This record gives sequence, C-alpha cells and structure tokens, in this order.
Amino acid sequence: MLSQIKRNLKSAALAISCSDSTLAEKLSRPLFSRMNIAFNPPGEKVNFAGTSSAACISIDFDVTRPDRFEPNRSGTKRLVELGEKYHIPMTWAICGMTAEQDPESYQAVLRSEVRHEIGVHTYSHIAIPDHDDETIRADIEHCISVLHLPYRPTTFVFPWNKEGRYSLIRELGFRTFRGKWRAIGVPEQVEGMLKISPVQYLGPSSYGSTKVINKLMDVCVKYNSVFHLWFHPWDLVHPSLDRFCSTTLEPVLSHMSQLRETGKMNIMTLGQLSESYASSQYNMSESRVSTL
Ligand SMILES: [Zn+2]
Repeated sequence: MLSQIKRNLKSAALAISCSDSTLAEKLSRPLFSRMNIAFNPPGEKVNFAGTSSAACISIDFDVTRPDRFEPNRSGTKRLVELGEKYHIPMTWAICGMTAEQDPESYQAVLRSEVRHEIGVHTYSHIAIPDHDDETIRADIEHCISVLHLPYRPTTFVFPWNKEGRYSLIRELGFRTFRGKWRAIGVPEQVEGMLKISPVQYLGPSSYGSTKVINKLMDVCVKYNSVFHLWFHPWDLVHPSLDRFCSTTLEPVLSHMSQLRETGKMNIMTLGQLSESYASSQYNMSESRVSTL
C-alpha cells in the first residue's frame, strides 16, 4: 500500500517534470536527486542517428551462484524472444565462464534474428579494482577468446559495477562502458572511453513500476537524453517470469518501441549509441570551426 502511494507520488512528480511549465526545469534536479538520479541534460541537442534522444539496454549475463543457472537460462530465452518481438537490439555483457557453462543460452543470443551487441563482463566475474593489471588482462583476454566472435568487443560492463583501471580497460580495446551511478544526460568522456550511465534497473523492486519507468523514459525524450535500462536475466523471475514480463518488462519495451515509431527516440546498443554520440560531437565541432 505504502509502496503504491510512493509510486503514485513519483509518477505525479515525473509528470510535472515532463510538462512544459517553467517550474518543470527548476523542479527536475531536486526531484531526481531524491530518486538518486543525477540530472545532467545536454546544453545542446545531440544527434543520435536522427533523433535527439536514445534508449539502450544492457544485460549482465552472469551466473555467480548455482541457483541462478536456470533463471538465467529462462530469462535469456525470453529476452531473445522479446528482442525479436519488438525489434530491439540489446547489449549483452557476457561473463565468459557463464557462456562456457551454458553455451545453449549464449548461442541463443548470437543466433537471434536481432543483431545484439556482445560486450564483456570479464571471464570469472572479478572485481576490477581488487586485482593487479596482469590478472585483469589475462581474465579479460580469456573471456574474449571463449566468446569466439568474429570481432573484438568494444563495450565493457564492470562486475558489480565496481569501476576502475580505465586506462587498462581502454588499452584492451574497449571504447564504451556502463557507469555505476544513475544519471539522465548524455555519454560522458572518461579517459578515452564513453561512460553511459544507467537510468533504471529492472528487478524485483521495480515489479509493477511501469508507470514510473515509462515516465522516466518520457523525461529522457523531453531533455534530449539517454534512457539506459539494465538488468540480469535471472532477476526477472519474481513472482514468475511470465508475470514479471507481462506486467513490467513488456509494457516498458512496448513504450520504448512506440517512442521509436513516433520518431522521438532511437533504440540502440551501447556501442552504436557511443558511435553516434562521438560522430555527433565531431560534426558539432566541425560546424563550429566552419562558421568561424
Ligand atoms: Zn555481473
């Protein structure tokens, strides 16, 4: 009951933030700060391959406890189906060990008719700041070798979102990573890579929060920002995979694809988003130079 009231209040506050009133911009920063979301919309519109806002989804494909094996498998299967139903490309941050333990699920992602991006989540799910360079390098190279891809992955997701060792991560070929903290804005340069901050995690605590999540998406459209959703396949099974998908995940994917159909928001992988952001920045600086 209390959580329902809280959700209704959040939803109402987000509706104000989405409105055209002069109050909206003033209210947005404190409102999002209460939700632990930094509010940093860009000063000028970015061109995300034709739209001024973009959505992306990152999925952490990792089984770090035996009881997560089956939920990871059923969640992955369903996500591949939903990606095809809504034509949504997603970025899969693959833990190499999990791909080896469950090749069937990993292959399902690769074989999908939607071209998903394969990112790296280390081989053995190690916390990057806790290890030396040699260990990190060996672990990530081992992950890339077991993924058997025809290209070298360029998107990295830090296990437990424990960020660090940026220059080493960049040296290993990565150009994009998911940040730890929630933020509404555009990608941010960090030591030669682009950080794409998450806006929303989907899991048991977001069950039934569709209205709030979809309003957050509308806010990202209004403020020319990126809506970045992330989750684990094994965390979509409460109270059941069917119920979670029908009441929470599908309405969110459906809203996302409607925004795309109406030309308000592109849906991209993290790698594509990063590329389109970088070329938009390049074009902006070129046009500034040419008007001098
Ligand atoms: Zn993980």
